[in-house]
Amino acid sequence: MVNYRYLGNSGLKISEITYGNWLTHASQVENDVATSCVRAALDAGITTFDTADAYANTAAEQVLGDALKGERRAGLEIFTKVYWPTGPKGPNDVGLSRKHIMESINGSLTRLGTDYVDLYQAHRFDVETPLEETMQAFADVVRQGKALYIGVSEWSADQIRQGAALAKELGFQLISSQPQYSMLWRVIEDEVVPASKEAGVSQIVWSPMAQGVLSGKYLPGQPAPAGSRATDEKGGAQTISRFMNDETLAAVQNLKPVAAELDLSMAQLAVAWVLQNDNVAAALVGASRPEQVAENVKASGVTIPAELMKQIDDALAGVVER
Ligand code: NDP
Repeated sequence: MVNYRYLGNSGLKISEITYGNWLTHASQVENDVATSCVRAALDAGITTFDTADAYANTAAEQVLGDALKGERRAGLEIFTKVYWPTGPKGPNDVGLSRKHIMESINGSLTRLGTDYVDLYQAHRFDVETPLEETMQAFADVVRQGKALYIGVSEWSADQIRQGAALAKELGFQLISSQPQYSMLWRVIEDEVVPASKEAGVSQIVWSPMAQGVLSGKYLPGQPAPAGSRATDEKGGAQTISRFMNDETLAAVQNLKPVAAELDLSMAQLAVAWVLQNDNVAAALVGASRPEQVAENVKASGVTIPAELMKQIDDALAGVVER
């Protein structure tokens, strides 16, 4: 079963393997497969689910809400996000203005079939709206009981510092940051992680498997396996393309002996690796079939010894983004 970690300086515990539905629900996979993935997550002890209003233009929230119908609400942590337009692209359909936040939260709650989300996240930073306005709107969303906690996604160290300070002034806490983080993408380590630790903010990291690349299933010079994200012309093939070069794919194959030494699959090694960082509260994993969820969840509780962490760094030297 899955271990739990506290999210930021809060009393909220989340499953350190969190299920996310970007590119899968209402897009790459049919609704019955989406439902079986959610079922597999629940069966494996995952209680935390992440989505966004922008995923599949709101349809992903609906599919997740339907899949969770009938579950005990207090036994779940449901996270969603606001920022991107979700259909009409009027002047106020994007960003973190009070208007867009107040209108977006209501749509998300309806689609998710719940009175509140546990975590409401700013999907990006809005350079056009005063941060004071955004944080005041979030404070009001919390006071109205529509969200219990507030988080952000892909904010810089400075933005996190400023956001956390304003939240404190307004009487609530900013508790999470949702950045990309994996063995291949370590951009947060130098600035975002230290600033977050100071501010009492945890990371919930996306694409810990580099969208499936770190599972080792893509081989240099060979066509991608049928049904994989790299073959998904609805969007996945494009988003994964940054990792789909022979140099990276060859380096990833060097991780095989490390995984074998720990008796893990390469997918499990990738998820376990992000969880070695003590500022990471959860690895946000996606899945196109239930078996993947059952496999990935076994990364919970794994400790990777220092000498193997070093072996990983050596194996990937030259292909890591920092
Ligand atoms: P991952 O890196 O975990 O990639 C998931 C994909 O990898 C799956 O859909 C599947 O694709 C493949 N995969 C998963 N497990 C295995 C396995 N055991 N063996 C082989 N292949 C496997 O994460 P995602 O990129 O999906 O992102 C996870 C979540 O992060 C999203 O759902 C979303 O909630 C969040 N996110 C947030 C963003 C933000 O801006 N805040 C941006 C992007 C994501 P397939 O089988 O099709 O190859």
